[in-house]
Amino acid sequence: MALTKTQQAHADAYLRRFMAGLKRRNPGQPEFHQAVHEFARDIVPFLEDKKDYKDAHILDRMTEPDRVIVFRVCWVDDDNNVRVNRGTRVQFNNSIGPYKGGLRFHKNVNISILKFLGFEQVFKNSLTTLPMGGAKGGANFNPHGKSDQEVMRFCQAFMTELVRHIGPDTDIPAGDIGVGAREVSYLFGQYKRLRNEFTGTMTGKGLSFGGSLIRTEATGYGCVYFAREMLATRGEEIRGKTCLVSGSGNVAHYTAEKLIQLGGKVVTMSDSSGFIHDKDGIDEEKLAWIGELKTKRRGRIAEYAEKWGADYHEGKRPWGVAGDLVFPCATQNELEEEDAKTLVGNGCMLVSEGANMPSTIEAINVFLDHKVLFGPAKAANAGGVAVSGLEQSQNAMRLSWSREEVDAQLLDIMRKIHQSCVDHGREGDYVNYVKGANIAGFIKVGDAMLAYGVL
Ligand code: NDP
Repeated sequence: MALTKTQQAHADAYLRRFMAGLKRRNPGQPEFHQAVHEFARDIVPFLEDKKDYKDAHILDRMTEPDRVIVFRVCWVDDDNNVRVNRGTRVQFNNSIGPYKGGLRFHKNVNISILKFLGFEQVFKNSLTTLPMGGAKGGANFNPHGKSDQEVMRFCQAFMTELVRHIGPDTDIPAGDIGVGAREVSYLFGQYKRLRNEFTGTMTGKGLSFGGSLIRTEATGYGCVYFAREMLATRGEEIRGKTCLVSGSGNVAHYTAEKLIQLGGKVVTMSDSSGFIHDKDGIDEEKLAWIGELKTKRRGRIAEYAEKWGADYHEGKRPWGVAGDLVFPCATQNELEEEDAKTLVGNGCMLVSEGANMPSTIEAINVFLDHKVLFGPAKAANAGGVAVSGLEQSQNAMRLSWSREEVDAQLLDIMRKIHQSCVDHGREGDYVNYVKGANIAGFIKVGDAMLAYGVL
């Protein structure tokens, strides 16, 4: 329902006060401020005529994590030096289920980034229709250039402390940037040893020890399924479209794989050093080569250009290349206002966010103003955590579902998330998926919080 002028003015003033208070209480946390602002600018007007939520201060309570656990992680490197890192787990909100969210190992990890990720996770998990609360964690540990033995020692030291805060009904971590199959295995192995129990307390596990088929592919596949649903609202399809993908890690890889399977032409991928532009398109053979490069040899994307005769742009992102469909799948704030203007100018019709918060608020505004189909991360990349939820279900039942079964459930969940966004985000003949995802995510968590009373 559209607000009256008075209600809109009231909501604007409230949003300014609310954000000023949040910034005062959480100084030096720009990513967290950004994530909350992106959410609150939809939720505050929505709350204008919702007395129950307002009287119970649900928005204030939602933006304060349940708890933040910070701990020292000591380990010894291959040269016998003692190394010290900081581990963190942000348990943000468990109103609708046990805490659930990934672990990130990256040199830039800090409390602002983990709080933004934990906050987003609450609403993403709510959208999946599965009973999962939101959390995020990690460490300022840089796995690049470390030996397998060093990564193992770090993971074991990290889990030795984290173990006391997690469990199958409490908090179930998973992977994220810098935490792939290798790290999840080391972490789960140490958990199992310390607890002397085999439960589904981590997801993203190997297939021989409780992992789910399709989990590895789920975030990327889900991101493309979501894009396909958005395109269908305009009678369009992926086949024949030129696609820009950023990143070359887990999410980027399986986004590109599904796009290729559905007839899209993927022309870019990247890493933190630069991007490659392959005008002929990255096919399955070339993508398999990238997978080997990144997960086995742990090399740089620049090598692709030499091997396959493509262009390489050092220190740049792919957004200057003309493309129909855009999939930012590397990291936060990798797509800014000027990039968005360039993309729109080049005729881009859709953006589906594989990474978390890859677009700045200013970039999102450009896409919404130009009525680009814009799938925000908390909806478009929810497939990963959804299949993590399915992994938990399989672990609890002590059985494994087939690839086809899990993929069908993933597709069904992505369709339901899309429908929720349409239901809550329709603005005339345009669907504002950002607003739709925020409101749909909010309602489920908010209703649970209301039901519990003041907690
Ligand atoms: P990976 O570690 O597998 O890959 C990350 C990719 O992003 C790499 O190509 C990496 O390049 C690049 N990258 C990292 N930091 C930067 C940077 N500062 N600038 C440019 N590129 C960078 O991580 P994932 O694929 O798992 O995660 C990617 C994104 O997707 C993250 O935002 C994550 O939170 C989100 N996500 C992941 C899910 C999952 O299931 N894995 C689920 C939902 C969201 P390099 O190799 O040089 O570091």
